[in-house]
Amino acid sequence: MADCKNIMVYVETAEGNPVKVGLEMISPAKELAAAKGGKVIAVVIGSGVKDAAQKVAEAGADQVVCVDAPQFADFNLDTYAGALVELVKEEAPAAVLVGGTQDGKDIAPVLAAKCDAGCASDVMAIKVDDAGNAVFTCPLYGGTVLQDVTIDTCPQVATLRSGAFQKVEDPAAGEVVEKEIQIPEDQIRTKVVESVKEIAETINLEEAEVIVSGGRGMGSKENFALVEELSNLLGGVVGATRPAIEDGWVSKIHQVGQSGKIVAPKLYIACGISGATQHVSGIMNSDYIVAINKDEDAPIFEVANVGIVGDVMKVLPVMIEEIKKIKEAQ
Ligand SMILES: Cc1cc2nc3c(=O)[nH]c(=O)nc-3n(C[C@H](O)[C@H](O)[C@H](O)COP(=O)(O)OP(=O)(O)OC[C@H]3O[C@@H](n4cnc5c(N)ncnc54)[C@H](O)[C@@H]3O)c2cc1C
Repeated sequence: MADCKNIMVYVETAEGNPVKVGLEMISPAKELAAAKGGKVIAVVIGSGVKDAAQKVAEAGADQVVCVDAPQFADFNLDTYAGALVELVKEEAPAAVLVGGTQDGKDIAPVLAAKCDAGCASDVMAIKVDDAGNAVFTCPLYGGTVLQDVTIDTCPQVATLRSGAFQKVEDPAAGEVVEKEIQIPEDQIRTKVVESVKEIAETINLEEAEVIVSGGRGMGSKENFALVEELSNLLGGVVGATRPAIEDGWVSKIHQVGQSGKIVAPKLYIACGISGATQHVSGIMNSDYIVAINKDEDAPIFEVANVGIVGDVMKVLPVMIEEIKKIKEAQ
């Protein structure tokens, strides 16, 4: 048995591919493993996920344990957490990092409980202390307060926020190891009887490179069309604050923030958004924030890289016109 120096990363897959946060987690895992003189062991679980496992190896994990069997075709907390518990017992990692996805938020606490481990949630940053141990930075009270958490168990379990970490640059490919695991039927308490795919509008805010968001300051559904026009011009995705959604200007899937999506685009343009904590906590990992607001004291300007004090109904048409001119000239 290893001695608590390797870092395990559970990489979820969706439609045959590793999810973004899964690959992002390899970076902090590498730092932690280096501090302990260990390696990064990624785990991919599913049915027909060998290609995904190879992609994870190419993203910089030293080793990828691929658990590929029909039993894991659908996500089931009992089978997935059961497989991870088995691997944790075998590998004795110092930490297990899990993406803060819907499934990840289910798995991590169960895994922690079954392994008698401490669990840090929604981790936004990881430092390594002088003794080589992880210090997890987690938000409290909707991101108003950040706290540093250390966990005195082996393993430590943590869910990591999507977009908080960057993928490994120029990764060296690791190896894929196939592993057979079978969870006994009597340990599976829930069964998927039927899956129905929701027919609904889908957008990918979490992976968007450009997001143009509108808030209550847009004033009406008709005015909100300017946000959509700018977003289309920039090849981006439309985001919104909760009031804009509550007023019916745009659907709920566009919500950015504490109870919406946590985003990390290269460019985030906030139009008529005050900068409430519940919104800002969802955009803090953006590379560059541009804010347009008529109130020069609006809190959004405290987090913006560029602030434009003005009426969105005057500023947005000018921006749109100028961008069109640049595009036409190209
Ligand atoms: C538990 C909880 C969870 C929440 N989750 C979320 C969440 O996930 N996402 C979220 O967004 N909110 C969330 N909220 C709501 C949040 O607290 C704020 O109410 C919301 O973010 C404010 O949205 P806003 O900026 O659009 O509106 P306001 O705060 O009303 O701000 C509107 C801004 O527009 C500016 N403005 C007005 N007219 C113009 C104009 N013509 N030109 C330029 N600027 C103009 C104003 O100066 C103002 O700053 C949550 C609240 C709670 C309690």
